[in-house]
Amino acid sequence: MHWYAKIMTQKHSNVLIIGGGFAATKCAKTLRKKLSRDSCHIVLFSRENHMVFHPLLADVVGASLHADSAAATLRQMLPGIECRTDVINRIDVEAGKIEYQRDEGQIDRIGYDHLVIACGADSNLAMIPGMGDHAFPFKTMRDAVLLRAHIIRQLEKAEACDSPERQKFYLAFVIIGGGFSGVELAGEVNDLIRESTRFYRNFTRDQVRVTLVHSGDQILPEVSPTLRDFALKKMKRLRIEVLLNTRAAAATREGVGLPDGTMIRAATVICTIGTTPAQIVEHFDVPKERGRIVTDADMRVSGLPNVWAVGDCAYTKNAFDEKPSPTTGQFAERQGRQAAANIARVLRGEPTHPFYFKPLGQLCSIGGRRAVAEMFGLRISGFSAWVLWRSVYLLKLPSWSRRTKVALDWFSDLIFPRDLGTLRVDQPQPLAGAYYRPGDFIYRQGDPANFFYAIEQGEVEVLRNINGPQDDRAFAFLGPGDFCGEAALTHDPCYQVSVRARTVVRVMAMSREAFSKLAGTMAPSRGVLAEFMRRRSQALWLHFPASKEALSKKPLASFLEPIPAQTLTPDSTLEQALATLTKNGLGFLFVLDNEQCLLGVLNATDIANALLLIASTPAESRRDASEVQVRELLSGDPIMVSEDDPSLLVASTMLEHGLSWIPVVVSTNDHHLKGSVRAERIGYWMLQELGKDTLIAAQTATLGEELQAQRRTLRSA
Ligand SMILES: Cc1cc2nc3c(=O)[nH]c(=O)nc-3n(C[C@H](O)[C@H](O)[C@H](O)COP(=O)(O)OP(=O)(O)OC[C@H]3O[C@@H](n4cnc5c(N)ncnc54)[C@H](O)[C@@H]3O)c2cc1C
Repeated sequence: MHWYAKIMTQKHSNVLIIGGGFAATKCAKTLRKKLSRDSCHIVLFSRENHMVFHPLLADVVGASLHADSAAATLRQMLPGIECRTDVINRIDVEAGKIEYQRDEGQIDRIGYDHLVIACGADSNLAMIPGMGDHAFPFKTMRDAVLLRAHIIRQLEKAEACDSPERQKFYLAFVIIGGGFSGVELAGEVNDLIRESTRFYRNFTRDQVRVTLVHSGDQILPEVSPTLRDFALKKMKRLRIEVLLNTRAAAATREGVGLPDGTMIRAATVICTIGTTPAQIVEHFDVPKERGRIVTDADMRVSGLPNVWAVGDCAYTKNAFDEKPSPTTGQFAERQGRQAAANIARVLRGEPTHPFYFKPLGQLCSIGGRRAVAEMFGLRISGFSAWVLWRSVYLLKLPSWSRRTKVALDWFSDLIFPRDLGTLRVDQPQPLAGAYYRPGDFIYRQGDPANFFYAIEQGEVEVLRNINGPQDDRAFAFLGPGDFCGEAALTHDPCYQVSVRARTVVRVMAMSREAFSKLAGTMAPSRGVLAEFMRRRSQALWLHFPASKEALSKKPLASFLEPIPAQTLTPDSTLEQALATLTKNGLGFLFVLDNEQCLLGVLNATDIANALLLIASTPAESRRDASEVQVRELLSGDPIMVSEDDPSLLVASTMLEHGLSWIPVVVSTNDHHLKGSVRAERIGYWMLQELGKDTLIAAQTATLGEELQAQRRTLRSA
């Protein structure tokens, strides 16, 4: 019989708990103590099979603690509780059921008499551009283990590196957020690196740079000013650079960008700020406050008598001071325990109690065997606070086996150096997003060609240097949907051009191996690539000195054609678009706003597709062409150039995109339409200027290159 059917045939309450953190485990343990196994079956669903003791995560990164010491296996710490690792997808309060995904992928449902939601919150790096692509989160055990391995790998890279500039980059570490977790992490990372430099020969502790970036004017805003000042002074003495009133504006491969445009160059960026509600909470349709579920005083979800929310995912007022509970382990644990007591009361028919907790105080380790502590009205700092910090957390661990493991690790850390061994636990990512600010290089001419890039957002310029690195000249623009870095696919050892962001750019970087696999299984991707390489190889004629010379001297204005008399607005209808297209005979139509700024372009194919779509819609829901507005047909930003862009660049951009014409606007920031340029007109001018012989020679060369390029694409695929 299925485990769920077994439960449901027995006559007792069924309590389900979602989560495996402080709140959920304390709730499960207390319920088990208060209710006998015969009267209550408890099932705990947690994504991981262990509970993470978050306050010790920084020690795991700093290698003063083994990862398994800071995690306790749920089924071992919760006897008498059914522990499952299925992920809950949805809560259906109408039916009194939750929906979860089984390991094999099927969706199942299970009913409850009481449901406890204790699923915490997820980290959210999306609040700062590029953070999700280039920064390490710091929330789970996996984050801590990957981070430790990454830090040690930077030390190894710095040891093996010949370039002082590169070495400086590897030895720079930036931590964002000056709250408890940021400060503790900065201390541990600093200790790990500075204590370990003696095992490396090619750099010293003076070359290491650990920076803590904090937007407020004080770190640790939760503790008293004296302790804060002590922490700040001590951290500075430990050579941690603390940047106050500084907000990280972006993260890139090069490090952290600040709002004034400066860059803290660092190979390691760690983000300790930003949370987002867990997915089930986000989809749970109940009142929420800053993404947390609003509960009544006794921790029941408002309006739902048998659904409870506790811990970081709940917004519960503390009856002690009538303030909302902070998102800390201390509070999560107390809420878990008191919610369990309330459930037992409800099952016995007794009234519930409001959540009440007098906070015990704060403890924060700051590195260098120092800490700050505020407990029971006492304030201490320094080594004694650090001993207190370790003692308190040792006692708070959930079992004696865990306490013994942690005590042994900490004892060995006092005597022996930190362990610098790493297993390669992180898989090289075959596909990764990357973020660039205007002016950042995605790659430089001569860099090893390891990645192929697809542009998701923004515009880049392709540069080639002729007389050395100072002489970078742009010869094409690329935009969303374009590729670059094809040298990675043709097995060229280095990139032949540089690519630099013109605007904010997001790309998807794909390793050579990943592309080969993808192209091997997906024939269409091979075709797309071959077409792209063919187009790009046609641009070769631009590298002929004579044609290049002539075109680079010719102002774009001399090719500019005026704005056609008939244009559209977003409110124009499809019927009007069709009539205008027939009248102007150009094959395309500009869509402008009231101020004559370019919003988009429609061509004959777009209009034909829209008409076909109407024709294929069932008659009862079909709209007339006079009811469809042009704004519904526009997609994405049109490719456009500025009137002061060089003709050479514009010609190359048209070739790159296979365009027969291109709109011209005032500048990248000012989209007032100036007119358009047609490839045909440039081609005709070239023909006149250069004479037939040169072009025939160029085309012959292009054809040869084209065939070679296609052969190479297919070989690499
Ligand atoms: C690095 C760090 C250091 C910290 N240091 C301290 C400290 O020193 N002192 C302190 O008091 N607090 C500290 N905190 C805060 C503290 O850890 C949190 O407040 C506490 O963990 C919240 O407990 P919780 O049970 O609500 O959620 P969590 O501990 O986050 O647990 C949530 C659980 O729910 C599970 N889950 C989520 N969604 C699903 C789903 N759909 N299906 C199944 N399972 C799901 C997750 O896997 C997880 O096991 C720290 C936090 C961090 C990140």
